[in-house]
Amino acid sequence: MAGIYIHIPFCKKACNYCNFHFSTSLASKSHLIEAIKEELRLQASYLQNHAIDTIYFGGGTPSLLSAEELQSIFASIERYYSINELKEFTLEANPDDLDANYLNALQNTSVNRLSIGVQSFKEADLLFMNRAHSIQQVDYALKCAQDKGFTNISIDLIYGTPNLSMKEWEQHLNTMLTYEIPHFSSYGLTVEPKTTLAHQIKTKQLPALNPDEAAQQFLLLIDWAKENNFDHYEISNFGKPGAHAIHNTNYWKGIPYLGIGPSAHSFNHKSRQWNIANNQVYIKSILQDQTIPATEEELSLADQVNEYVMTSLRTMWGCDLDKIKNTWHTTLDTVIIEKYIQQQLLTQHQQTIFLSKQGKLFADAIAADLFIVS
Ligand code: SF4
Repeated sequence: MAGIYIHIPFCKKACNYCNFHFSTSLASKSHLIEAIKEELRLQASYLQNHAIDTIYFGGGTPSLLSAEELQSIFASIERYYSINELKEFTLEANPDDLDANYLNALQNTSVNRLSIGVQSFKEADLLFMNRAHSIQQVDYALKCAQDKGFTNISIDLIYGTPNLSMKEWEQHLNTMLTYEIPHFSSYGLTVEPKTTLAHQIKTKQLPALNPDEAAQQFLLLIDWAKENNFDHYEISNFGKPGAHAIHNTNYWKGIPYLGIGPSAHSFNHKSRQWNIANNQVYIKSILQDQTIPATEEELSLADQVNEYVMTSLRTMWGCDLDKIKNTWHTTLDTVIIEKYIQQQLLTQHQQTIFLSKQGKLFADAIAADLFIVS
């Protein structure tokens, strides 16, 4: 099995915290769509005939494409890849795009899962983040999507915004519950380099974010999810049993995927590659030169083990020490594992190690400490 990710690099507005690749000019949209279809043809052998079980349109804002444009890209996937076993086709969508007409049109496509960029149920937070939508549009989009028969819905929620109290954060989670959504992803606001938020903080237009408050909100989130029967199956992802995201779970389990479009990443066990994050260069390279503008990196044994440690530790299935021994014929440092178990940041069950609740606050640092060196 394998997955296909399509990157749609357009947005209506630039959110102040975002460092994904996107343009707010849609002038090249039709050429970009043609280039994506052509790249699908050029990359047809990348997944070596693995059956495709998931397709994910991310961005950017894929819901800026019409249903016909989405379906035309899907037709290219259908043409060059084996999709008889397709289980999940996710479309990332922003609330302001999800009106009744668009949702009606989406029903005529193969999209069967929506990932909606709600981000907050507080108007002041949406304004602070420079989101393109309002709370009213969130309410309308969620209800309308469900009315039109989309049941497999995920939303994104951000915590750690300035002035978000613990009480308000819990209210957001309880508000989400009223919509009976089976899955959500939740991220602490982070200051990425070269973003408007980074500039606003650097020039003292905004105070620095408070990491302690964000940590407390994350811990509240973990308890809240447990009380409300969401599996905390990846550090930022929560789903009712049976509603976990298949595409992302496959990614965390090391299943290969092909990324198409500017800035998209691909992985096939032996190497990873990423396309250039520039729409015009991407379009020209694909349509004029028939060349994929990508950088490829061969994965050393240490890279493969460390990638597994990094991704598996973040999941509820944990990091399987036997798998590391049997697949890569190496081991992690037991002294470091023991140190984190003593500090109650890791737990171990048989040959699998897991992050504890507190350990999840330090996931990246613990994984990095466990990395092997080549
Ligand atoms: S809509 Fe998404 S991709 Fe676009 S700027 Fe906002 S966060 Fe970034």
